[in-house]
Amino acid sequence: MSTFRIGQGFDVHPFSEDPERTLIIGGETLPGPGLDGHSDADLLAHATADALLGAAGLDDIGQQFPDTDSSFSNANSMELLKNVVQLLKDEGWEVCNVDCNVILEEPKLSLYKNNIQDRMSKLLDAPVAVKGRSSEGMGFIGKKEGAACLVVALISKS
Ligand SMILES: [Zn+2]
Repeated sequence: MSTFRIGQGFDVHPFSEDPERTLIIGGETLPGPGLDGHSDADLLAHATADALLGAAGLDDIGQQFPDTDSSFSNANSMELLKNVVQLLKDEGWEVCNVDCNVILEEPKLSLYKNNIQDRMSKLLDAPVAVKGRSSEGMGFIGKKEGAACLVVALISKS
């Protein structure tokens, strides 16, 4: 009989003041401004990693890849996510599916959504749904100070 576990991930990053900083979401480069963070600030990769780690009952991304460790400075977060998938595989877990909401005012995610879903699905070897949402002008997201991401992941072990 299969065992199923569910996990949720949340992440938030402020937009950078550095005009050179690239906006990366789910490994896709989007028109900036970019988000600020120790790594590439790919909030979708981070929230997905945390949902998967939480489902498997493993330490969260901050403990697995501490931002005090300079080797993760400007890290490619899709590589971190790949490492997380491997950690789960090592424990016999498979990803069933992942559902994501990326909440940001600009740019609209619809143009990039298919590429992001395809890339994430390949990496996770499972269906991934990515939805873009705006904050309707309200709060820190509405004022374009930052962006947030919510992810739910289901994993199974037979
Ligand atoms: Zn993050």
